[in-house]
Amino acid sequence: MPELPEVETVRRGLAPAMEGARFSKVELRRGDLRWPLPKDFAQRIEGRTVTGLGRRAKYLLADLSSGDVLVMHLGMSGSFHVFRGSGSNKLGRYHHERAQHAAHDHVVFHMSSGAIVTFNDPRRFGSMKLVARAKLDDEPQLAGLGPEPLGNAFDATMLAQACKGKKTSLKAALLDQRVVAGLGNIYVCEALHLARLSPKRSAATIASKTGAPNERAERLVEAIKAVLNEAIKAGGSSLRDHKLTDGELGMFQHHFRVYDRENEKCRTPGCRGIIKRIVQNGRSTFYCPVCQK
Ligand SMILES: [Zn+2]
Repeated sequence: MPELPEVETVRRGLAPAMEGARFSKVELRRGDLRWPLPKDFAQRIEGRTVTGLGRRAKYLLADLSSGDVLVMHLGMSGSFHVFRGSGSNKLGRYHHERAQHAAHDHVVFHMSSGAIVTFNDPRRFGSMKLVARAKLDDEPQLAGLGPEPLGNAFDATMLAQACKGKKTSLKAALLDQRVVAGLGNIYVCEALHLARLSPKRSAATIASKTGAPNERAERLVEAIKAVLNEAIKAGGSSLRDHKLTDGELGMFQHHFRVYDRENEKCRTPGCRGIIKRIVQNGRSTFYCPVCQK
C-alpha cells in the first residue's frame, strides 16, 4: 500500500499536468471504486479548473474553481498515469507510453493542458469524492487526523503529549492516525530504527508523567521527518529519471533500513545485529534487537 512519500510523489508528478488546467472531459468507466461515485461526478468536474493540488495524510486534494475539492485516495493498488494528449509536447518529463492493464483504467481526466490523467486500480480500494471546501474538515476520513509529520506542528512536545501515559507500544502509537497523520507500517519501522528505539517499548516512555518530551521523543521526531524526506527525495529522483514503470505514479524503488529485511544485517554503522521480524497488532514489524532499545 502506498504510504505518505509515495502519495507526495504522485502529487508532485500530477501537479504539472493538472494545476491551472481545466477538466475538458471526464470519463467514468465504471460507477464505483471503493464506494459508488456520485451520479453527477463528471458534471461537477467538467469545465472546472484545478486551482491547487494538495495532500493531507494519504489523501490527494484537488481544489476546483467551483469550490469543490476532489478528494482522492490510492487505496491498495491505485496509481495515476499521465499521458501526453495528441499534439502536445508541453508536459515534458511526465509523458509515457500507454500502460498495460487498461481494463483497470477506471477514471480518465482529459485536461485542457493536453494531458490525459488516468486512474488505474485493479483491486478498487481507491476512492474519489467531491466535497465542498468549507465542509472538508467534517469528512469522516479527514476529521480527527493528527498533524502532518512534515509540518511544523509536529514536534517532540506534541508527540510526547500524545503519548503521555499510553501503555500501547510505541509502534502502535505512531500508527494511530490521531497521533500523527499518514504514517504507515513501513515508515514507522524505518523511523524507529533510525531513532534506535524498540518498537516494543511502551509509548509513554518518550514523555515524562506530565507529558514533557524527553530525549527519545526528540530523536524520534527527527527520525520520522528524516525517513519521510529521504523517501520523498527518492520518489522525486525516480520521477526525474523516468524510472517509474509504465509511467506509473505510485510506487518507486527504495532502499529500506529494516523493512522487509528479515535475517539481513543491520545497517546501523558499527552494529552487528540481524534484522528480526515480529508481529504487532497483526502487522509485521522489522527491527534490530541490538541497536533498538
Ligand atoms: Zn542494529
